[in-house]
Amino acid sequence: LPPEERVGFAVIGLGRIALEQVLPALAQCRLARPVALVSGSAEKAALVARQYGIRPDAVHGYEAFERLRDDQAVQAVYIALPNAMHREFTERAAAIGKHVLTEKPMATSAEDCAAMIAACARANLRLMVAYRCQYEQANRAAIRAAQTGALGRLRFLHAANLQSNGPGPQWRYSRRLAGGGALPDIGLYCLNAARTLSGEEPVEVSAQAYSPPGDERYREVEESMSFTLRFPSGFLAQAQSSYGAYQEKSFRLSGERGSLLLEDAFAYRGQRLRLFRRDGEQGTEEAPQLRPRNQFALEIDHMARCVREGRRPHTPGEEGLRDQVIMDAIQRAAERGRPEPI
Ligand code: NDP
Repeated sequence: LPPEERVGFAVIGLGRIALEQVLPALAQCRLARPVALVSGSAEKAALVARQYGIRPDAVHGYEAFERLRDDQAVQAVYIALPNAMHREFTERAAAIGKHVLTEKPMATSAEDCAAMIAACARANLRLMVAYRCQYEQANRAAIRAAQTGALGRLRFLHAANLQSNGPGPQWRYSRRLAGGGALPDIGLYCLNAARTLSGEEPVEVSAQAYSPPGDERYREVEESMSFTLRFPSGFLAQAQSSYGAYQEKSFRLSGERGSLLLEDAFAYRGQRLRLFRRDGEQGTEEAPQLRPRNQFALEIDHMARCVREGRRPHTPGEEGLRDQVIMDAIQRAAERGRPEPI
């Protein structure tokens, strides 16, 4: 589409994900473009606006968010704020008639997720959660292989999302702002993969959390969360998430007739997919070659298409709510030291 016909996004919050991924992706999108910014730092926002050709009068502070109402160029907002702020800005966007693409995790409680869904539904606006992996090609190829029966009946997922975190940013270590530690931030990717690969909803979870004693960062939130989800078919998904381990972001999915390994599954780029299948006595191995695409651009273009066509996004608010309910059960299972029903 020519730029003036693309869906205009206002980016809310100019932190790492906004500056390093979302804005560069928006500049590459075919159906979307950046047209406004909302930030607590006027100086930074002015600089970023110049860089992306955004009009100086389309740059606002959080208190002036409602000025977006009269900006016809803005059809949607991309919320890239700390987790606990997603609800407030979704409700404020809905109140001024703007569609919402919000970062993950959707919010910090199921109650907040439900309120966000209700606000957008009342205003007849699209609401999408930024589950970028569901738009990324290698993850999609893995989902296809799982769902078309290429691996036979699924038995196990083993997923890890591990990184070694430094001191900041501080909000990630605040229960109030983040809602939890490694689980909602990065363990969520494993949980969401387990649900999308299997196409099932888990019925029970067991979990263990760990935080190194005496480490100030982990006074309020967990450093590590390990969990096992049980699904109705008998499929089991084991996942590890941690801020204190280097540096795996992969999963292996095993079924009766084959398995697949997706290395760097949850990374921003560089996914490597291998499929292993039993073929008589022999095994076969295949490594599908996929042309690399920017997964953030694919995700944002999907939202833009939904806005243009009045369609429900592939990862709507309900998807974020479902994951939040499961994460709440994972936290309970870890606290109580016994399996929890979901
Ligand atoms: P950052 O801390 O880098 O950025 C958050 C931004 O929010 C700040 O720069 C600031 O922008 C604004 N902000 C407003 N109020 C506050 C506050 N009280 N404390 C801190 N920041 C505030 O975080 P990230 O960019 O890493 O994360 C933002 C969101 O994106 C989170 O929900 C996170 O889970 C998600 N995320 C998603 C990823 C993905 O792969 N999809 C990867 C990383 C994060 P300003 O200075 O402009 O006011």
